[in-house]
Amino acid sequence: MNESQAYCPRCKKVAAFVKTAKTSKCQVCGFEYQLSEPPRLNEAAHSTAGAIGSLVIKIFGGILIGILALAGIVALLAGIAFVGCIVASKGKF
Ligand SMILES: [Zn+2]
Repeated sequence: MNESQAYCPRCKKVAAFVKTAKTSKCQVCGFEYQLSEPPRLNEAAHSTAGAIGSLVIKIFGGILIGILALAGIVALLAGIAFVGCIVASKGKF
């Protein structure tokens, strides 16, 4: 038995539903509705979404690391340029 709690539109309350391959049936009044997608297809879609999600996280992680590395390089170059300017100005005066 694959039971789950769901809102029943006929009972107007949350009741235990028994899920079969294609339908879900209310245990209280017997209201039955078609499941939009078979569970297998649902699982496949979910795993694909998870794979895309992890890929997006990896891409964003890579971008974030790239930005941080770039910011570090820019800060370093700015520091060198700043020190260079001080040295150059001291040399003039
Ligand atoms: Zn019901």
